Amino acid sequence: MNIEKQKVLIVDDIDSNILLLKKALKNLDVEIVEANSGKVALQLVENFKFDLILLDIQMPEMDGFEVFEALQENENTQSIKVIFVTAAFTDEISRIKGYQYGAVDYIQKPIDNLTLLARVSVFLKLTAHEEQLIYKNQILKEEIEERRKTENALRESERQLNLAAIIFNEGAEAALITDHQCKIINVNASFTKITGYSLDDVIGKYPSILKSDRHDNEFYQAMWYSIITTGKWHGEIWNRRKDGSVYPEWETITKVTDKTGKVVNFIATFIDISQHIQQQDRIHYLAHFDSLTSLPNRPFFLEQIKKEIARSKRNQRAVAVLLLDLDRFKRINDTFGHPIGDELLVQYASRLLACMRKEDTIARLSGDELIILVADLDNDKEKAVQQVVTIADKIFQALSTSFQVEGYDLLVSVSIGVSLSYNGIGNADTLIKQADTAMYKAKDEGGNTFRFFEVEMEDAAVHRMKIEYELRSAISKNELFVYFQPQIDVSTNKIIGAESLLRWTSATLGFVSPADFIPVAEETGLIFEIGNWVLETVCKQIKVFESEGQFETLQCIAVNISARQFNESNFLKIVSGFIEKTGIDPKHLELELTESTLVTDVQALINKLHALKNMGIRISIDDFGTGYSSLAYLQKFPINVLKIDQSFIRGLSTDFGDETIVKTIIAMAKTFKLHVIAEGVETIDQLNYLKQEGCDAYQGYLCSPAIEVDAFKSILKNECPC
Ligand code: C2E
Ligand code: MG
Ligand code: MG
Repeated sequence: MNIEKQKVLIVDDIDSNILLLKKALKNLDVEIVEANSGKVALQLVENFKFDLILLDIQMPEMDGFEVFEALQENENTQSIKVIFVTAAFTDEISRIKGYQYGAVDYIQKPIDNLTLLARVSVFLKLTAHEEQLIYKNQILKEEIEERRKTENALRESERQLNLAAIIFNEGAEAALITDHQCKIINVNASFTKITGYSLDDVIGKYPSILKSDRHDNEFYQAMWYSIITTGKWHGEIWNRRKDGSVYPEWETITKVTDKTGKVVNFIATFIDISQHIQQQDRIHYLAHFDSLTSLPNRPFFLEQIKKEIARSKRNQRAVAVLLLDLDRFKRINDTFGHPIGDELLVQYASRLLACMRKEDTIARLSGDELIILVADLDNDKEKAVQQVVTIADKIFQALSTSFQVEGYDLLVSVSIGVSLSYNGIGNADTLIKQADTAMYKAKDEGGNTFRFFEVEMEDAAVHRMKIEYELRSAISKNELFVYFQPQIDVSTNKIIGAESLLRWTSATLGFVSPADFIPVAEETGLIFEIGNWVLETVCKQIKVFESEGQFETLQCIAVNISARQFNESNFLKIVSGFIEKTGIDPKHLELELTESTLVTDVQALINKLHALKNMGIRISIDDFGTGYSSLAYLQKFPINVLKIDQSFIRGLSTDFGDETIVKTIIAMAKTFKLHVIAEGVETIDQLNYLKQEGCDAYQGYLCSPAIEVDAFKSILKNECPC
């Protein structure tokens, strides 16, 4: 506490007044300071602490009231006690004003020395007393605060110990307590269960006996830094059990201190999170790997390819993407069932893995579409291409022997599209798209081969995409029409039938040939909708022809059926549905199938063809001679008509080989008692040759291209106009 002398400030503009006051107070043990104006007084109170001010009221410049107001405005001076001393304001009003201002007293001159001394000493005692009270109060407050804090620290360690006790007794969490030196003093039952260590095993030892080699020193340093500075650490840590196995745990370590802040214990609680981590691994696995083949999936492959492209930029190397699609894999699924198809894929994937390098990535994009990333190839284009050719050869070699799947001997071939990136130029999506385009090119060329991507392919691919996009709405936009190409009896020159051919005039692409859009429709599955539309339209037209009596001369109208459409399980239902719905005579309908349609599960095919035959529908084999042309199926299958492919007709006058083929097909048809029609007849010489060889009928530009129905009807009235 302050033990300086108390200070009294006397403020008066008249020196003799100050002297009088000083004299009156001379017996007081105080320090007296003088000020001869209000301004000086205010400066003094700024710098020194006064216990009492004797303030004259009437002063020039600043009177006592104004000085008092200034003292009140300053929070450091507003509590100083002030006694007004005046000769001039003796009236009662001024006195009251003085008190109202807050003065502690009001003394009139002439001053009675004893009264002044008594009053001043009373107020000084009062001030001293007040200060002492404030001081004591402050001390008390500090003590209370200190006690509160200590109690709160105490409570926290009590809480921790209580918690530890609960955990120790009944917790599923493992718990371990050490002393302040980190030596283990207790562990609970869960600790023993998880780690395999009993209390006897660990007592007096350091928790580092659990340490695995999964973390470096920095990890432990950071952990201890957190415990020491914040009192706590929690996180995932890998520890070692007594049996040596390493496992992950989620751990909390708490520092316990006494009321002075000294460390008394460390408490660690943890749970075994191996199962949780296994689940996380499983989720990671599912997100990045294909569950059937265990190969990486598309997202993983994309990550990989991005990394390799970036690396090839740094290393000045090339990267190749090989996109592999099994030829006619769908047929295997359709014929033998999906489980066998799946098993085949698994074996196929493992054969590929075996023939590629460890550092190559093989991923499954979808279905039977696998993709291979080969990095670190030579940056020289020719050398890189040669390297890829060697890899492709290896793949073909690996697939040259059949797969044994549940007793079946399955031989598959693959189409491979290759794209290359040099010096990190290009991006993952483009490379995959280019490989895809090249793969389709390989397929177009018969499959079982590989093609490198070339820019021109891209144009074709873009056109194909446009076709696919526009074709989706072609039916609803009424852009499709069916035309009819007359079929003529060679000996009578009469029109005996017609082949219906689909025509598409797209609002955006213009006329698109069926040779271009039918394959797209087949690949995308749009063929089901389109094919059904054609079938229904033709059945309706047959009904009209029937009502017009056209079948007095016509035998039937043929419709092209694509392989996918025919192989659909509900195909028979669809055909019979249209026949029923339109009410046509089924013998007026002929279905044209290509040879490739017939290469499937033989027994199912025979059943389907017989069912069609039993309905009374005719079956013809389109483009005969370009596919398998197996004599066996001519014998086995209930077929009515063979259509000689136009490529042989075209070569009749120039190619002796074609003449032989045409002659043979006609002879074969006769043997099997099949009707035979030649396609694409354009010249009279071709027709004469066919007549001479005994061909039954023909169609071609010599008579008419495919024309719309009214035009067809008008030439029906006449014989073939040629
Ligand atoms: P395709 O069934 O072999 O049809 C014969 C093709 O030869 C038709 O071509 C026809 O216009 C053409 N052609 C006819 N006479 C001559 C000729 O004297 N000279 C030449 N150079 N060509 C001639 P188009 O209409 O372009 O059809 C091509 C292929 O598209 C068809 O071959 C058929 O496989 C398919 N297609 C057409 N319409 C349909 C359909 O409705 N459904 C299905 N699934 N395929 C269809
Ligand atoms: Mg046809
Ligand atoms: Mg044909």
